[in-house]
Amino acid sequence: SQQTDSFKEKLSVALKERQELVQASDSLKEMISFREKLPAFKMKSEFLKAVQENQVLVVSGETGCGKTTQLPQFILEEEISCLRGADCNIICTQPRRVSAISVATRISSERGESIGETIGYQIRLESKRSADTHLLFCTTGVLLRQLVQDPELKGVSHLLVDEIHERGMNEDFLIIILRDLLPRRPDLRLILISATINADLFSKYFANAPTIHIPGFTYPVAEYFLEDVLEKTRYSIKSDFDNYEGNSRRRRKQQDSKKDPLTEMFEDIDVDTNYKNYSLGVRKSLEAWSGLQIDLGLVEAAIEYICRNEGSGAILVFLTGWDEISKLLDKLKGNNLVGDPNKFLILPLHGSMPTVNQCEIFDRPPPNKRKIVLATNIAESSITIDDVVYVIDCGKAKETSYDALNKLACLLPSWISKASAHQRRGRAGRVQPGVCYRLYPKLIHDAMPQYQLAEILQTPLQELCLHIKSLQLGTVGSFLEKALQPPDPLAVKNAIELLKTIGALDEHEELTPLGRHLCNIPLDPNIGKMLLMGSIFQCLNPALTIAAALAYRHPFVLPINRKEEADAAKQSFAGDSCSDHIALLKAFEGWKEAKRSGNEKQFCWDNFLSPVTLRLIDDMRMQFLNLLSDIGFVDKSRGPNAYNQYSHDLEMVCAILCAGLYPNVVQCKRRGKRTAFYTKEVGKVDIHPASVNAGVHLFPLPYIVYSEKVKTTSIYIRDSTNISDYALLLFGGNLVPNKSGEGIDMLGGYLHFSASKSVIELIRKLRGELDKLLNR
Ligand code: ADP
Ligand code: MG
Repeated sequence: SQQTDSFKEKLSVALKERQELVQASDSLKEMISFREKLPAFKMKSEFLKAVQENQVLVVSGETGCGKTTQLPQFILEEEISCLRGADCNIICTQPRRVSAISVATRISSERGESIGETIGYQIRLESKRSADTHLLFCTTGVLLRQLVQDPELKGVSHLLVDEIHERGMNEDFLIIILRDLLPRRPDLRLILISATINADLFSKYFANAPTIHIPGFTYPVAEYFLEDVLEKTRYSIKSDFDNYEGNSRRRRKQQDSKKDPLTEMFEDIDVDTNYKNYSLGVRKSLEAWSGLQIDLGLVEAAIEYICRNEGSGAILVFLTGWDEISKLLDKLKGNNLVGDPNKFLILPLHGSMPTVNQCEIFDRPPPNKRKIVLATNIAESSITIDDVVYVIDCGKAKETSYDALNKLACLLPSWISKASAHQRRGRAGRVQPGVCYRLYPKLIHDAMPQYQLAEILQTPLQELCLHIKSLQLGTVGSFLEKALQPPDPLAVKNAIELLKTIGALDEHEELTPLGRHLCNIPLDPNIGKMLLMGSIFQCLNPALTIAAALAYRHPFVLPINRKEEADAAKQSFAGDSCSDHIALLKAFEGWKEAKRSGNEKQFCWDNFLSPVTLRLIDDMRMQFLNLLSDIGFVDKSRGPNAYNQYSHDLEMVCAILCAGLYPNVVQCKRRGKRTAFYTKEVGKVDIHPASVNAGVHLFPLPYIVYSEKVKTTSIYIRDSTNISDYALLLFGGNLVPNKSGEGIDMLGGYLHFSASKSVIELIRKLRGELDKLLNR
């Protein structure tokens, strides 16, 4: 207690000093008056009282009202002024890395401090915090990983879970754990922060926890739909139907009739039924009215229209990902009007940007300059730009989060929910009445689901299941039944089966040593295993590159009118390997070489590659290497050439691919002059038209492994590699000797290899040794 007394003394001195500092500094005074004008400020005492009286509290309010920046600060200030600062340890989780950094930095400057003092942040592989840090912003993934070491969250006094309305998988997962933890930690305070009004859902989940709503104010925002925008801009959509494999039927119909493609498209679809009741196929077709990508020409036309015809004010454009943002940036730079840097300030805003350029995004430009922000859905509710008057909304969203734990499955852009559309529109009315241009027909808007679907219901669950096991939360099935919206038991069963197949779980559903390693690699377990195998078999560089591209995205760009040239470029990277994975490996290696010789730009241009994606892949490779070194599979002191003895041996690379991608196996069966492809689960499949294997009639080797199966008009496998039966036998999944003793069965008997008893015995011994290496 003597220690506490001396701490309190120190704290009082510090408080006094701080008051003096505020008196002396104009900018701090300004900050204080800014904070006092935020809607959250009016609720300060009500909020603090509720925090004191309740273990769980739900707070909702319009975006920009001050939830994220003010609520944790209110708690901090209250704790300090009651001289409880020493025990106060506030954590606020953010779904995205960028918002964790941006918010922590903002609050530090509101308090006139440097980042890393009282306020800090921690994201994967990066942190700014110190012993003085009492308010920490971290990604939800970081907190989940902290739970492995510290399941009771000892030392945390207040936990705020932000952006809970987004229904991200990590947040849905976290609140199950917290609901169980609360009775064991009666002193812990939990505050759930939600942007929209479906706060009730969370209140109910926590035994009707009280809810506080912060009333906000926004100006009215007029809205236009595609029909109006096309009329205003006189733009005609270049439908890139050709790029979309599902459109051939529609295209044929279109040639017969003279109707415009939009009308034509919707004749097929009964839009009255609720959007989310549609089958995936129909949803994909809906998404295809402008191809899989947004018509950037239309976006450009809308921006130009506003700049020519509307009053001053910043423009905020919602796009789906970095690729589109950078393409639009290039387009706008070449635009006659908007390309003038003296009159227009064009800024990208994306979740994987290393640092958000704070001032430029938030500051008001000089009066003769218009700010145009090209953003992903991060600007929807995580980051608020005050001076926006015009919003251009493409209506789609895609997660391309750089934090690999958050998301790996390569998601296609899909339509947002009505709630998100409303949210995006609202961004235009913060300082004056605004206008929202929606680049999709009203029909689509009406068909959008009311709220975003929970991610836990939409994504494969193997990574989540691994995490549940590593946190020792009991059986996966019974744990996930406690979720806000429990996932389909079949999805759970599939995930468990997959984890058993790849050797991460044993027959009792317990983690194997391999499973434990995979828990420490925040990646899809298949990709994690590919990395481990790459390091064991001296194929590290290819494994890092392919894993990064699969975890993030391809470097290949698909130009609408030069598709054949692009295909040819990709094909030449593949050579005669019959492998999309080898193609991307060679493309990456070519780029590295070109970059070394100062020829990056030309190389990318000639080969239809995205330099931005390639650079991100390169960064991710480094991150993966650090992970492998953390878990002891790579010793970095051995230098860059270690673990690469077989990196140029393509057969070895294909075997590593087989090890990582198993059980995604296709059997190639010869049918006359062509090959037919079969999988265990769904029978016949097709090779995706974008694959280098799409045009191959006969394959040199009998099997194909693939990264992903997608269902559109037919079932396609994306990214495939032709492999031999030896690769499968030596590197694939569990082998079972055939009952008659005449061979080996794989994939539960779907594949059968005949072999003599002695060969079977030999293979089993080899595999046993390999398992030891993986499970060390
Ligand atoms: P909420 O979480 O309710 O959406 P925030 O607490 O993030 O709102 O932001 C409150 C206000 O603070 C915003 O409206 C914006 O004006 C301002 N603000 C937030 N972050 C920054 C920043 N990095 N730079 C400048 N202003 C900011
Ligand atoms: Mg917020």
